[in-house]
Amino acid sequence: MSAWRARTASSPATAALYAPGCTSFRNLHDHHIVFRSAGGSNDLANRTTLCAWHHLRGVHAGVVRCTGVAPDALRFALGVRRDGAAVVVYGAGEVVVASESLRRENLRKVDRARP
Ligand SMILES: [Zn+2]
Ligand SMILES: [Zn+2]
Repeated sequence: MSAWRARTASSPATAALYAPGCTSFRNLHDHHIVFRSAGGSNDLANRTTLCAWHHLRGVHAGVVRCTGVAPDALRFALGVRRDGAAVVVYGAGEVVVASESLRRENLRKVDRARP
Protein backbone atom coordinates (compact mmCIF):
# COMPACT_ATOMS: atom_id res chain seq x y z
CA MET A 1 0.00 0.00 0.00
CA SER A 2 1.45 3.32 -1.01
CA ALA A 3 2.00 6.00 1.57
CA TRP A 4 -0.42 8.87 1.66
CA ARG A 5 1.33 11.64 -0.18
CA ALA A 6 1.00 15.21 0.97
CA ARG A 7 1.44 17.67 -1.83
CA THR A 8 1.53 21.40 -1.63
CA ALA A 9 1.42 24.06 -4.28
CA SER A 10 2.57 27.64 -4.43
CA SER A 11 -0.93 29.00 -4.02
CA PRO A 12 -2.37 28.72 -0.51
CA ALA A 13 -5.73 27.93 -2.07
CA THR A 14 -4.33 24.68 -3.45
CA ALA A 15 -1.94 23.85 -0.60
CA ALA A 16 -3.82 20.87 0.73
CA LEU A 17 -3.81 17.11 0.85
CA TYR A 18 -4.90 15.16 -2.16
CA ALA A 19 -6.67 11.82 -2.06
CA PRO A 20 -4.39 9.05 -0.73
CA GLY A 21 -2.48 7.33 -3.52
CA CYS A 22 -3.68 9.74 -6.19
CA THR A 23 -1.05 10.61 -8.77
CA SER A 24 -3.02 13.04 -10.88
CA PHE A 25 -1.73 16.56 -11.35
CA ARG A 26 -4.29 17.45 -14.02
CA ASN A 27 -7.90 18.52 -13.85
CA LEU A 28 -7.63 19.41 -10.18
CA HIS A 29 -10.77 20.55 -8.39
CA ASP A 30 -11.29 22.62 -5.28
CA HIS A 31 -13.56 20.57 -2.99
CA HIS A 32 -15.43 21.83 0.06
CA ILE A 33 -15.09 19.20 2.80
CA VAL A 34 -18.41 20.24 4.33
CA PHE A 35 -20.33 20.84 1.12
CA ARG A 36 -21.39 24.41 0.41
CA SER A 37 -24.90 23.05 -0.05
CA ALA A 38 -24.73 21.84 3.57
CA GLY A 39 -23.56 25.21 4.86
CA GLY A 40 -19.80 24.55 4.59
CA SER A 41 -17.59 27.63 4.66
CA ASN A 42 -15.25 28.89 1.99
CA ASP A 43 -12.30 28.93 4.43
CA LEU A 44 -9.16 27.07 3.41
CA ALA A 45 -9.68 24.77 6.41
CA ASN A 46 -12.82 23.51 4.64
CA ARG A 47 -11.22 23.04 1.22
CA THR A 48 -8.97 20.46 -0.32
CA THR A 49 -7.66 19.69 -3.77
CA LEU A 50 -8.85 16.57 -5.55
CA CYS A 51 -8.43 15.33 -9.10
CA ALA A 52 -11.60 15.25 -11.19
CA TRP A 53 -12.01 11.47 -10.72
CA HIS A 54 -11.64 11.46 -6.94
CA HIS A 55 -13.84 14.54 -6.71
CA LEU A 56 -16.75 13.68 -9.00
CA ARG A 57 -16.67 9.86 -9.21
CA GLY A 58 -15.30 9.46 -5.70
CA VAL A 59 -16.49 11.99 -3.13
CA HIS A 60 -19.61 13.22 -4.88
CA ALA A 61 -20.54 9.68 -5.99
CA GLY A 62 -20.31 8.52 -2.37
CA VAL A 63 -17.47 5.97 -2.66
CA VAL A 64 -14.86 8.29 -1.16
CA ARG A 65 -15.50 10.22 2.03
CA CYS A 66 -13.37 13.21 3.01
CA THR A 67 -13.82 14.69 6.47
CA GLY A 68 -11.88 16.78 8.95
CA VAL A 69 -9.96 20.03 8.76
CA ALA A 70 -7.53 20.91 5.96
CA PRO A 71 -4.66 20.61 5.55
CA ASP A 72 -3.36 18.62 8.54
CA ALA A 73 -6.37 16.84 9.97
CA LEU A 74 -8.12 15.36 6.97
CA ARG A 75 -9.45 11.84 6.91
CA PHE A 76 -10.17 9.93 3.73
CA ALA A 77 -12.32 6.81 3.59
CA LEU A 78 -12.03 4.88 0.32
CA GLY A 79 -14.47 2.28 -1.00
CA VAL A 80 -17.36 3.53 1.12
CA ARG A 81 -20.46 1.31 1.11
CA ARG A 82 -24.07 2.30 1.61
CA ASP A 83 -23.86 1.25 5.24
CA GLY A 84 -20.95 3.66 5.75
CA ALA A 85 -18.22 1.00 6.09
CA ALA A 86 -15.06 1.68 4.08
CA VAL A 87 -12.34 -0.53 2.62
CA VAL A 88 -9.58 1.67 3.96
CA VAL A 89 -9.39 4.85 5.99
CA TYR A 90 -6.46 7.24 5.96
CA GLY A 91 -6.04 9.91 8.60
CA ALA A 92 -3.09 11.74 10.06
CA GLY A 93 -0.79 8.95 11.20
CA GLU A 94 -3.36 6.20 10.76
CA VAL A 95 -4.29 3.64 8.16
CA VAL A 96 -7.24 1.41 8.89
CA VAL A 97 -7.81 -1.47 6.51
CA ALA A 98 -11.10 -3.33 6.31
CA SER A 99 -11.46 -7.09 6.09
CA GLU A 100 -10.13 -8.74 2.94
CA SER A 101 -13.61 -9.76 1.73
CA LEU A 102 -14.98 -6.23 2.12
CA ARG A 103 -11.86 -4.93 0.40
CA ARG A 104 -12.31 -7.21 -2.62
CA GLU A 105 -16.03 -6.51 -2.89
CA ASN A 106 -15.47 -2.74 -2.85
CA LEU A 107 -12.53 -2.77 -5.22
CA ARG A 108 -14.73 -4.49 -7.81
CA LYS A 109 -17.32 -1.73 -7.41
CA VAL A 110 -14.71 1.02 -7.70
CA ASP A 111 -13.24 -0.63 -10.83
CA ARG A 112 -16.69 -0.73 -12.43
CA ALA A 113 -17.20 2.97 -11.63
CA ARG A 114 -14.00 4.04 -13.38
CA PRO A 115 -14.40 5.63 -16.80
ZN1 LIG B 1 -16.77 18.82 -4.10
ZN1 LIG C 1 -7.31 11.55 -7.68
